[in-house]
Amino acid sequence: MNRRHFLSVAGLGALATATGFPVFAAETITPLNLSDAEWKKRLPPASYTVLRQGGTEYAGTSPLVNEHRKGVFACLGCDLPLFSSDKKYDSHTGWPSFFDVMKDHIRTQSDHKLAFEDRTEYHCARCGGHQGHVFPDGPPPTGLRYCNNGVALKFIPA
Ligand SMILES: [Zn+2]
Repeated sequence: MNRRHFLSVAGLGALATATGFPVFAAETITPLNLSDAEWKKRLPPASYTVLRQGGTEYAGTSPLVNEHRKGVFACLGCDLPLFSSDKKYDSHTGWPSFFDVMKDHIRTQSDHKLAFEDRTEYHCARCGGHQGHVFPDGPPPTGLRYCNNGVALKFIPA
């Protein structure tokens, strides 16, 4: 088989797949990769510190702690929806807290920066921005507490 023949057969195969069987792929999230300088220009300083440097805001400083309307909490860096308002609860910690995330929109990794506790850090799945930490002391049904920095989020009312 010469190269030309091979290519035309491969082309026919792709066509048959495209027309014959619909493919239901998992949601694809297009990554947003910006340089550090671009992030600095795009984000308010407090949000840059949290999202791009893994900082933590002071407890009780975010207006989102007392945000009780229906809607969506999205990443301030890239607008990807991360939490639904019906998964928010009052943890009395001073940080916006959620017991569940929007599936596949959050990525976790272990964070051993603090020697006295093992925390799991989580990030926005699109821009990699640091959002907060998840702890195993949340309410049912998940038993999880996603402790989020308010400056890393934007609230979009329903
Ligand atoms: Zn993001």
